[in-house]
Amino acid sequence: MDFRLGAESEQLRQEVREFLDEVFTPEMRERCRSTGVQHDPEFSAAVRERGWLALGWPVELGGQGRDPLEVLAYTEETRRRDAPVYGISTTMMAAYVISVLGTEEQKREILPKAFAAEIVIALGFTEPENGSDAAAAATKAVRDGDGWRITGSKMFTTNASVADYVFMLARTNPDAPKHRGLTTFLVPLDQPGVEIRAVKTLSGERTNITYYNDVLVGDDLRIGEVDGGWRVMTRGLAAEHTASFSGEQDRLVEALTRWACSASDEEGRPRSQDPAVRERIGRSRTELEVSKLLLRRAALLRERKDPSLVGRGSMSKLFSTERLERQAKETLELVGPDGLRSADDPSAVEGGAFEHMVRHAKGTTIYAGTSEIQRNIIAQHVLGLPRSG
Ligand SMILES: Cc1cc2nc3c(=O)[nH]c(=O)nc-3n(C[C@H](O)[C@H](O)[C@H](O)COP(=O)(O)OP(=O)(O)OC[C@H]3O[C@@H](n4cnc5c(N)ncnc54)[C@H](O)[C@@H]3O)c2cc1C
Repeated sequence: MDFRLGAESEQLRQEVREFLDEVFTPEMRERCRSTGVQHDPEFSAAVRERGWLALGWPVELGGQGRDPLEVLAYTEETRRRDAPVYGISTTMMAAYVISVLGTEEQKREILPKAFAAEIVIALGFTEPENGSDAAAAATKAVRDGDGWRITGSKMFTTNASVADYVFMLARTNPDAPKHRGLTTFLVPLDQPGVEIRAVKTLSGERTNITYYNDVLVGDDLRIGEVDGGWRVMTRGLAAEHTASFSGEQDRLVEALTRWACSASDEEGRPRSQDPAVRERIGRSRTELEVSKLLLRRAALLRERKDPSLVGRGSMSKLFSTERLERQAKETLELVGPDGLRSADDPSAVEGGAFEHMVRHAKGTTIYAGTSEIQRNIIAQHVLGLPRSG
């Protein structure tokens, strides 16, 4: 297995860096930070102009047909810079499912708008009572003439406040086993009966709780077969098997190194000479490297459609997020009280990066599958242990 990213990937990485320098301005960054919204129409339009909305999709489906390591170089750079890509990724994930499982009419209606970055699609899988166990969804969809009436609520519908649709899992057959009674819909958020309420997370990110009160959705917006929603959703979430937060680790190590090279202790000695600081930087850099390698392995297994991806992808997600959480805490301890000033304070060290990463890292161990769920998957798929109850 060759872990080098290769010349094309490094070329793309350089292009992404230059692109972000030009497009992801301090004003745009501040807009994302102060609103907590991880989507910016101006940014998405610029990504579209570069043809990067669907880098890894096959050319026949409208993508660039880039290999997984090139896609990885793009992802590593955008995450390292904290660029507002979440709205793009959820939209293109739903668009991909439509391109594979949707009707001809859905492809004609939805895909051109997704490719033009004209619409945003949020994900509506988690509910107030069911997150890890998404198959237990209680939001129901009941037949009404040619359409459906949807009633229930979805928790953590990130970007719903700026989205046009929610790609939603709803229960259509309460009598079937839980995985078999679900159907997927693209629910327009401008329909009567939809209510969106902001939920601010510990990291300052804005997500939402969305309520659906007898919301009418046409059958033309049902994606896949009735009661076949689980298959549709797992098709879409397959990409989460290659989730990683090495980009955040990279950002943290960079900030720590910069700080160590510019700050001094009370006696005027450069912090870069402090053995504890040097040890922390060395350890963080090594852990970053391990995260990157685990992710590269997962990306290559994904390309080969190797079934061992499931457990190996969980290792990548688990390792990168848990190390990030620990690194963030230890870094803040090292920097001391100065590191506690937030980005709202112009004198904050590294623009408040250290205290923010402590708050942000917690969430990374929850979304895209919690650490406990990743451990269960590793136990089952790598160690061959029985499925947990
Ligand atoms: C900032 C943020 C953004 C999000 N964005 C979205 C989004 O856009 N769309 C969306 O649909 N969802 C989103 N989520 C939801 C996210 O996917 C869920 O939070 C996650 O799946 C966990 O679900 P839960 O919060 O209901 O926790 P629960 O599933 O209730 O879990 C509670 C605790 O029990 C543990 N646990 C659960 N089951 C098991 C088990 N079988 N074995 C061992 N331990 C277990 C969990 O690990 C956790 O520690 C977001 C979450 C956050 C925090």
